[in-house]
Amino acid sequence: MSTFSSHNFANERALIRVDFNVPIKNGEITDDTRIRAALPTINKVLADGGSVVLMSHWGRPLKDIEKNPNLTLADFSLKPVVAHLSKLLGKNVIFSDDCISADAADKAAKLQAGQVLLLENLRYYKEEEKGDKAFAEKLSKLGDIYVNDAFGTAHRAHASTAVIAQFFAKDKRMFGLLMESEVNAAENVLHNSKKPFTAIIGGAKVYDKIMIIENLLDRATDIIIGGGMAYTFFKAEGGQIGNSLCEDDRMDMALDLMKKAAEKGVCIHLPSDSIIADRFAADADTSSALSNEIPAGWMGLDISNMAIEQFKKIISTSKTILWNGPMGVFEMDKFQHGTKAIALAVAEATKNGAYSLVGGGDSVAAVNKFHLADKVSYVSTGGGAMLEYFEGKELPGIAAIKD
Ligand code: AMP
Repeated sequence: MSTFSSHNFANERALIRVDFNVPIKNGEITDDTRIRAALPTINKVLADGGSVVLMSHWGRPLKDIEKNPNLTLADFSLKPVVAHLSKLLGKNVIFSDDCISADAADKAAKLQAGQVLLLENLRYYKEEEKGDKAFAEKLSKLGDIYVNDAFGTAHRAHASTAVIAQFFAKDKRMFGLLMESEVNAAENVLHNSKKPFTAIIGGAKVYDKIMIIENLLDRATDIIIGGGMAYTFFKAEGGQIGNSLCEDDRMDMALDLMKKAAEKGVCIHLPSDSIIADRFAADADTSSALSNEIPAGWMGLDISNMAIEQFKKIISTSKTILWNGPMGVFEMDKFQHGTKAIALAVAEATKNGAYSLVGGGDSVAAVNKFHLADKVSYVSTGGGAMLEYFEGKELPGIAAIKD
């Protein structure tokens, strides 16, 4: 496998799969994080004297139009990205309004060194998500070399994220810088972790995280379980959890996990106490209780002081930390304390030399909310992809480049 950094792109047309699925309201980009994340890759190709063809999906045009006939393809256009990207790159970006048209082929063929072409939304074609080979082949003609820099879609076997790679020789397909750093961070944690390795798993549902925990049983030293999912474990062990979130049909799974962890010598830590509320509301009345003695009519919405101290101690002695999922309903001020304390503890451990990776939607939102994103070793941009990676699955977008 070639590496992007060592490749010289002079006089080559790099076909780069990026993730420009950014929020756009009234034609304005409201958060350009994903576009900025692709800039180092684009700039390296241009600096080498190459040219760039960018392709991305945006939203779910065909599915949404089916549900709402008032929508048209134009509502899902990548065109608003052109002006913004031009500003960020300091040069005019060319646009083609159909990713596999003669116009796209013509514009790609005429690209000069230093020029950038953006293709219209790949998902205008159902073939993209279907992983259609003929569609992938048409796209492949638009570049001399394929660069995948869209980690966020690496778990999908789509035409532009996986299938297309087969049309490029091994030394003509590679990860971009963003993808490379995501893969390195994930591999650092899953395959090269220094012990003790603590996984902090939170969030709402046991079902969503069960496979991650199972996979981590062979790798982690300690697994901290917080958030709404913890109460299914408490109830399964015979505790009283009041109205707390609970998946009754997952209680056996929870007990099975505890048993497997004990057999493998992995310590599972549940939060000993909780902040409880009389309602699921920002202005609810609150109190605290042992997490397995929550009175009827109350629900656990955050971890409380004993649990915070218990978890902080484990985190402070860890050399590798993986964090996915908040410890409570951190979106509401009254229930953010536990998640914030854990974020601070992870930041402190990182300062003291631990490697910390925060991955998966809401824990990323949490470190951003508490302005701690630059105090951890790596914050993943790939929500679903990172989760599947932690579940131990092979991601099609990674496999296609490596195989
Ligand atoms: P997930 O997407 O599974 O990581 O879950 C994140 C969501 O879980 C966030 O929106 C939190 O508000 C929610 N959450 C965390 N702790 C609790 C809890 N104790 N009860 C209800 N929801 C929770």
